Amino acid sequence: MKAMKFFNYNYCKICPRSCGAKRNANETGFCLSGNDLNIASISIHHGEEPPISGEHGICNIFFAGCNMRCIYCQNYQISRSGKKSSKSYEKIEDVLKFIEQARRSKCRGIGFVSPSHSIPAMFDIMNTVREKKWNDAIFVYNTNSYDKKEVVEILEGKIEVYLPDFKYADEELSIKLSSAPKYPSIALKAIKEMYRQKGAGIKLSKEGVAESGLIVRHLVLPGHVENSKKCLRILAEEISNELHISLMSQYHPTPQTKDNPIFNRDLRRDEYEEVLEEMEQLGFKNGWIQSLESRDNYNPDFSKEEPFR
Ligand code: SF4
Repeated sequence: MKAMKFFNYNYCKICPRSCGAKRNANETGFCLSGNDLNIASISIHHGEEPPISGEHGICNIFFAGCNMRCIYCQNYQISRSGKKSSKSYEKIEDVLKFIEQARRSKCRGIGFVSPSHSIPAMFDIMNTVREKKWNDAIFVYNTNSYDKKEVVEILEGKIEVYLPDFKYADEELSIKLSSAPKYPSIALKAIKEMYRQKGAGIKLSKEGVAESGLIVRHLVLPGHVENSKKCLRILAEEISNELHISLMSQYHPTPQTKDNPIFNRDLRRDEYEEVLEEMEQLGFKNGWIQSLESRDNYNPDFSKEEPFR
């Protein structure tokens, strides 16, 4: 019953914006999303952290639209336009067909990417997968963390692996770069709740796939080393330095940032190394770092059937 308070598309308050869009009456809110399944793309992805992708990849379901507006978003083709997939994923059965095919090639993970504004659609998919008795499916909640803590509480026992970002330490920056008021405190509360549910450890299968746990991601932005260091300090001091951290260096300019004097370039090696040093000093030992050379592998093109190939 707790769920009803938030999951009402007559007057949407699912995410922290609580913008009250009448999504059942064809109105879209800040997230540009209505009341349908809202799927932009589904693909098997091999480029996530090793225990997320595993040997057989993860079946990632990307929702269209977003409840943030990061000026540098690499998924801008689907997050800014709210554009749905050119393939038809209007019905749950269409989604299940893709998942079934992925399962035939031994892919167990089902990742929900940017799900914060599409929780009811995510639940519909999860319930149908469970009805199919695909009990070894691993649900991964891959979020920007602009989530209400109360919504994360509802996810307890339903999500196997949390994969949240922690993007900003200062609200000024979250407003300037992502139009996201109160992001630091909101995201921290959401991640603390994920930590309450999962702790810092990761439970791995025999094959090394994460079956339960929490991995916090942080993308280092060009010209914003201090923000990254502060984010790590907050995580260490307010949660734990036992957390698994995925420190990402994959920033690459998009057509939206090509004229921006700060964001028109890749991250420099010295910037990334400075943040790595801070991570070490704070005592973080669990997690993953990225090679700067691999950034081209992470730039999706959602106009293609397989955006990451
Ligand atoms: S999920 Fe979308 S419509 Fe609902 S409150 Fe957030 S931005 Fe508004």
